[in-house]
Amino acid sequence: MEPLDERAIRASFVNCSKGEASRIKLPAGFADGSVPWSDLDFLGWTDPGAPQRALLVVPGADGPTGMVLRRPSERKVSALRSSMCRICLTDHAASGVALFVAPLAGPAGRNGNTVGEYICADLACSLYLRGKRQPKMRLVRREETLSLAERVDRALTNLAAFTGRVVAG
Ligand SMILES: [Zn+2]
Repeated sequence: MEPLDERAIRASFVNCSKGEASRIKLPAGFADGSVPWSDLDFLGWTDPGAPQRALLVVPGADGPTGMVLRRPSERKVSALRSSMCRICLTDHAASGVALFVAPLAGPAGRNGNTVGEYICADLACSLYLRGKRQPKMRLVRREETLSLAERVDRALTNLAAFTGRVVAG
């Protein structure tokens, strides 16, 4: 994705107040320029100041769409069960995937309505797709016959569906 500056990131959030968007802490590596933009299809990070809060910024033809997600507190999960990210379809041990919950945009979200999705717990789908990060204790290895470009397309389609549900409110 194209690099984004802080102003573009803060202005992109669709499901929180301007005040909340101004208090979000940017990803580690943002200030010193070490975000690997060229390896990213979207920007995802956990707020360094609020570990239950995660952020996704998804590029689009009309500019980026940012979403605030909540990471529910750790539940007891069996390390033996494998789970799949619904965005990039990477198989993980269960702890490698988390259910992220996003308030809907607009009044629906202010009234407490949310949508959830199972996503790589570190939001690093782009790096898993490129083989730059490996799932821990992966039990299931599916053979993928798709090219990287096709897998990236599939992940972006899945992510667009999730983003669309949030934006629709
Ligand atoms: Zn993923």
